[in-house]
Amino acid sequence: MYKIYSIIINSRVKKKRRVNFISIRKVKFYTKETLKLFNIALLAFGFIIAIILIKYKPMYEVKVSGERVGYVENKQQLDDLIEKDVENYTAKNIEKVDLVENPEYELKFVEKTKESNESEIIVALQKELDITYKYYEIYSNEQTIEKVDTMQIAEQIINDINILSEKQQNLNINEKTTKNIEELGTNTLEVAENNIIQKLDIDTSKAITHINGIKISSLPVSGVISSRYGVSSSIRSSRHTGLDIATKKGTPIKVIANGNVIFARRNGAYGNLVKVDHGNGVETWYAHASEIYVKEGQKVKAGDIIASVGSTGNSTGPHLHLEVRINGKHVNPQKYLYNN
Ligand SMILES: [Zn+2]
Repeated sequence: MYKIYSIIINSRVKKKRRVNFISIRKVKFYTKETLKLFNIALLAFGFIIAIILIKYKPMYEVKVSGERVGYVENKQQLDDLIEKDVENYTAKNIEKVDLVENPEYELKFVEKTKESNESEIIVALQKELDITYKYYEIYSNEQTIEKVDTMQIAEQIINDINILSEKQQNLNINEKTTKNIEELGTNTLEVAENNIIQKLDIDTSKAITHINGIKISSLPVSGVISSRYGVSSSIRSSRHTGLDIATKKGTPIKVIANGNVIFARRNGAYGNLVKVDHGNGVETWYAHASEIYVKEGQKVKAGDIIASVGSTGNSTGPHLHLEVRINGKHVNPQKYLYNN
């Protein structure tokens, strides 16, 4: 009995050992096969990736309000463009620009031939913008009289009106912002100026006159009269041949009547000088300019910008020296302009 039992046990042990042996071999076999398969799979996968990379490339699909607007390779580049072309966009009436919705990006594989189209995306983004506009209102007695685009224009208008009406008008400036473009309705300097003259019923007949039959339709600059015609001064040898109007360097100088430019270059003590012939023996001279914008022989209309205020030649600071000549003789410009 014991022997039989012992045989059974032995055989069991033997059997078990054999099973173990077989199973290890099997595991080794299957592992090898699996590795082989894995290698093939890896190779195939690499192959597929290679094909994808030959035909396709990764790009960001860009969506705005859920709608695809284009593709870009570089997210940062588009963000920079948005900042430059949209958010930092400046124009005369633009105070602030915000995107209504930011673009969404999704990384995708697209055909290699696909090109990024930043400019179209920018155009799509510009369709939905949150824009704050700004303008400057000129008001009197708490009533808006005119709206213009810049502070500079508003200041110039008030200056001109005060000179034209020969007294200080009660005009003030307010900076205003709005999101409603319809509220803008700004006018140009000339239009606003004429409207104010009409609305306030300002008599300009004394200020705008004629020189020897030539109609004066514009003031050359607004500013402070710093030296009158005929005065003597230590900085010049003879009496003053013109009228000095001091204002900021770079202020546009407008020709006061229609005419032809007969001189436009540097001329000693006058510095940069523009001479305009208006006919009837009338000439106007504009001296000490920082820059000249017209050429000799050029036709000009009253109000055209011909130069900018400077301090060239014999000058102690930025101002316009305006000289009026009739048949070669200088006359007092204040007989015709700035009669105050
Ligand atoms: Zn002068």
